[in-house]
Amino acid sequence: MAWRAVVPNDFGHPAEAHVHMGPGRHMVSYPLRGGDCVNIVAAEERRYWVEESWSHEDDPDNLRAAFAGFGGKVPDMLARVRRTGLWGLFRHPVARQWHGEGVALLGDAAHPTLPFMAQGANMALEDAWTLARCLDEQADQSAALEAYQLRRRDRCARIVAAANGNAWKYHLRNPLIRGVAHSGLKIAGRLAPDRMLHQFDWIYGHDVTATA
Ligand SMILES: Cc1cc2nc3c(=O)[nH]c(=O)nc-3n(C[C@H](O)[C@H](O)[C@H](O)COP(=O)(O)OP(=O)(O)OC[C@H]3O[C@@H](n4cnc5c(N)ncnc54)[C@H](O)[C@@H]3O)c2cc1C
Repeated sequence: MAWRAVVPNDFGHPAEAHVHMGPGRHMVSYPLRGGDCVNIVAAEERRYWVEESWSHEDDPDNLRAAFAGFGGKVPDMLARVRRTGLWGLFRHPVARQWHGEGVALLGDAAHPTLPFMAQGANMALEDAWTLARCLDEQADQSAALEAYQLRRRDRCARIVAAANGNAWKYHLRNPLIRGVAHSGLKIAGRLAPDRMLHQFDWIYGHDVTATA
């Protein structure tokens, strides 16, 4: 599940997004509104989720307790949280069939994803563009829906798998493996930040309007 909160940035959060990792949990923080405030998304793995709600609030002390062992700017950030929401996050397989007679699935209905590539809304937008293009191109509606699924499914499945992979990487529990893996990420991020970013060119460099 994930807590989300917005706090004032009076503690000098840098301009870049930061990922803070620990066993079974991680926290992403990045500045909003020209750096006036900071958005926090803090995820923790749990085996249970009971609330049926889209706007569930939680006690900020639960968030602070879950990340009590984190260093850096995390304690400063969490000390400023006055209100926080809580969301259940789930792994689901990508749907095998995205269309029926006169019906198409797109966005989360077709490929709900963990948010650890920050791509759920982007995929939904790409789906919408592609679906419209396919319907424009083909007079036969069922052929258009089939073409839509064909153009979108592999890419979405790859992104969902990458988000699952990030959950695994961020939340490593074995201290030895975690130490080696996270130090490697830290060093690579410092020495070759461009290379770290370019590994995701296939996601962030994709222009659906050029390919659909
Ligand atoms: C914690 C968290 C962080 C995220 N961060 C990011 C991010 O950084 N970047 C990103 O790209 N994505 C992110 N996402 C994912 C993103 O929010 C979703 O992937 C995206 O909203 C999916 O869009 P959608 O249109 O498919 O579904 P939704 O946005 O869920 O829209 C479905 C709509 O259908 C309506 N609806 C449901 N049932 C009915 C009904 N019976 N009748 C009428 N209307 C109905 C709902 O009210 C809703 O408005 C995040 C998600 C979470 C939970």
